[in-house]
Amino acid sequence: MTTESGTLYVVATPIGNLADISERAVATLKQVNCIAAEDTRHTGKLLAHLGVQTRTLALHDHNEKQRAASIIARCQAGDSLALVSDAGTPLISDPGYNLVRLCREAGVKVVPIPGPCAVITTLCAAGLPTDKFLFIGFLAAKSSQRQAQLTALPADVGTIVCYETARRIESCLDDVALVLGAQRECVLAKELTKTFEAFCHGTPAQIKHWLAEDLQRCQGEMVLMIASEPARAVSDISEQVQQTLKILLAELPLKQAAALAAQIHNEKKNALYKLALEWAGGSD
Ligand code: SAM
Repeated sequence: MTTESGTLYVVATPIGNLADISERAVATLKQVNCIAAEDTRHTGKLLAHLGVQTRTLALHDHNEKQRAASIIARCQAGDSLALVSDAGTPLISDPGYNLVRLCREAGVKVVPIPGPCAVITTLCAAGLPTDKFLFIGFLAAKSSQRQAQLTALPADVGTIVCYETARRIESCLDDVALVLGAQRECVLAKELTKTFEAFCHGTPAQIKHWLAEDLQRCQGEMVLMIASEPARAVSDISEQVQQTLKILLAELPLKQAAALAAQIHNEKKNALYKLALEWAGGSD
């Protein structure tokens, strides 16, 4: 293949196993005039491994918008450039969205060179439904914000996929159990495509237990998947619980009333939150 002048190529790179780079990705990286990389030192190692000598420039969250103007100018003058991130597919919880958007607005051709992405790599081997899924990127670092994000998830969205860090995974699993239920089916995928790749399938508590069995398991990169729960019919929530919720709603804000009713009856907070929202006509 030969690259076209005046084009930005969005090139996926490996998420662990260097053999996962595509032939098309290598050819593109060799032929473009310049590679915009999230971290030029990090990408430099991959390029050296691939025998690519193309020059690089840094494009990260903090300089993306400024850099976009000069990249667009170069493309309009006839250069072709590639965009890569540290690992996987650029723009997927990585920089690049602003650049691609601005290129399209300026009429610069953008061509994807597909390849590894932790979301898809996880889904295709986890054994959870793949017909419908919701990727939510990284959950918030603070537990209270994470709980709010989980509470706000609509029912029946399919498998939920999120990126998580080793440092936060245990408290994140606690929040999943608290908000979505202790029995919710989850899969934790670790170190995908690498030597210590592992999948752990179970409830949040079972996955925590698996992590605690071996300190090594608490390190490295990970993706958490949460199985979907079908929307719960109002009739599945007992009269007694609904009554408590109504009483509390008369005195308290919706979120607080749902949380308290859930605590009193050992119910799932988000099921009651959603029921209260329905009663309120769908707005918080
Ligand atoms: N753009 C990347 C992609 O296409 O997957 C994701 C970049 S994001 C900054 C990094 C996060 O992706 C990690 O914290 C982890 O949640 C996930 N991830 C990346 N590589 C992984 C791997 N080899 N195994 C498990 N998770 C991985």
